[in-house]
Amino acid sequence: MSDSKNFRDATRLTTLGRDPAAYDGVVSLPVHRASTILFPTLADFEKSALAPTETGRTTYGLNGTPTTFAVETAVAELEGAHGACVVPSGLAAITATLLAVLKAGDHLLITDSAYGPGRRFSNHVLKRFGVEVDYYDPLIGGDIARLFKPNTKAILTESPGSYTFEIQDIPAIAAAAHQHGVLVLMDNTWATPLYFKPFAHGVDISIQAATKYMSGHSDLLAGTITFTKECEPLIRQTVRDLGISLAPDDCYLLLRGMRSMAVRLKHQEQVALALADWLAGRPEVKQVLHPARPDCAGHALWKRDFTGASGLFSIILHPIEKPALAAFLDHLTIFGMGFSWGGFESLIVPCDPRPIRTASAWTEPGQLIRISVGLEHIDDLKDDLAAGFARMAAAR
Ligand SMILES: *Cc1c(COP(=O)(O)O)cnc(C)c1O
Repeated sequence: MSDSKNFRDATRLTTLGRDPAAYDGVVSLPVHRASTILFPTLADFEKSALAPTETGRTTYGLNGTPTTFAVETAVAELEGAHGACVVPSGLAAITATLLAVLKAGDHLLITDSAYGPGRRFSNHVLKRFGVEVDYYDPLIGGDIARLFKPNTKAILTESPGSYTFEIQDIPAIAAAAHQHGVLVLMDNTWATPLYFKPFAHGVDISIQAATKYMSGHSDLLAGTITFTKECEPLIRQTVRDLGISLAPDDCYLLLRGMRSMAVRLKHQEQVALALADWLAGRPEVKQVLHPARPDCAGHALWKRDFTGASGLFSIILHPIEKPALAAFLDHLTIFGMGFSWGGFESLIVPCDPRPIRTASAWTEPGQLIRISVGLEHIDDLKDDLAAGFARMAAAR
């Protein structure tokens, strides 16, 4: 399509990655399924072997098809990156990135609020291969420099944390990191490129679980890795070496989901904020953790660096017994209890950060509950939760 660089994000989402003129006027890009790619001549065959990480053309299905390249271009443009790789899950995006930038003897810093399975990978796999791993307080800001060692290679940030919602000072962390030649990696799943532009704030490599808002329909797993020009060879080579790629049908679904992303997120932002305000006034709720509310840790940074809030936030209940919690969560009719988030349907899960954290103690005894707002009407969501609170009171 026409060069969309001057359009606003909502408009770019409707144009990126499609080329009707090349496909008989068909609006959406077709799915190209392929393992074998044929070369017309020996010269073409030999040339392909010389450019194994070149993007935009394919030599073998594992290295992508036109459907893959369309999504990669769309994600890279939206995030303000030099390029992108799509992989089969958000966790794969985290693990491939860590494997790309680290080697034995290196030191990695990870935020204490990080996505759990990425933490597990670092503790199990990276340590086994000789990488030192330390955790840091998500509110550390530029003081992170005090944790640097001569072998510190990378920092894995995530802002906000997806259960506890501390916003990090990414520009301060990036400034400290770059003075010492340390790479800044960021999990940008919560804000998406619509509400936070990682590369404009000093990030070198951005990761997204496209499983969440980008695809938006709870029917596929996907991850994206976007990067600066300097980091491109590392990432492309490692993703290729690992033998992972996102299947063309899932690339298609991801790009399809992205078309409506700006509209979905706007609704989810408004409803989540209104629901958070309503919950803050409920007697059962001790605290609401939502970056757009002034009482959230790092709220001033959110105001400075972000252009919006997505639909995921947490509440802390005043201490209750397990049967009362079960009475609240069981029999909800709209909110489903299950992992993942960012889909069209609202979800709710209980969580206890206390045993997980090692660098910044989570001492709050009240039950933490995470809510992902979908596309439903706010009054129905309130009614569902209010009925849950009534069951909770009856079970006390
Ligand atoms: C879900 C999630 C991931 C992992 O995504 P999957 O596609 O489920 O592997 C990574 N980071 C964050 C913040 C997530 O919420």
